[in-house]
Amino acid sequence: MSTEARRVEVYPDREVVVDFDPDLTFECVEECTWCCQHGVLLYEKDLLELAARESLAESTTQFRGQDFVRREEKERDEHVAEDGGACFFLREDGLCALHDEHDWKPARCSVFPLHVTVEEAPDGEDRELHVSIREEAEEHCEGLNVSERRVVDHLDAFLPELLWELDDPETYREL
Ligand code: SF4
Ligand code: SF4
Repeated sequence: MSTEARRVEVYPDREVVVDFDPDLTFECVEECTWCCQHGVLLYEKDLLELAARESLAESTTQFRGQDFVRREEKERDEHVAEDGGACFFLREDGLCALHDEHDWKPARCSVFPLHVTVEEAPDGEDRELHVSIREEAEEHCEGLNVSERRVVDHLDAFLPELLWELDDPETYREL
């Protein structure tokens, strides 16, 4: 496999540098739910959108000054991490309550299994967003290379436009 960096325009004037194999394909395997067994960071816009749909007091928490959808211990054996916990919105049937009931989910839920980092542009005057595959995804995500859907052709499905507006769009922060 060749892993060659390439620049892709995701939205008008919104580019990323792709640091993963352009032949990589992805299709979420719903029964997997691995990435929903953790809390998820909420950007300010997400917080407002979530507040319009659900109780923030019940569903969110703060960690180091940032807002997250909280994890909670579930009374079940399926769709939970080893410690028995999962995202507040991950239902017993393995579906996301937000997605299923409101046809909406936080921006960061779309980004997985990708990972966004910021690097200085070659001209030294600007920054550029680099996209790679999260290390944990290589190990746990069942959706990699199981379909014909090339990630590089559908980057807008993973990367919400608000990422380009953030001071810090890096996606390493976890609860
Ligand atoms: S909000 Fe929904 S999509 Fe996001 S981590 Fe929780 S269950 Fe998964
Ligand atoms: S880890 Fe991958 S396959 Fe599993 S639920 Fe998340 S995106 Fe889907």
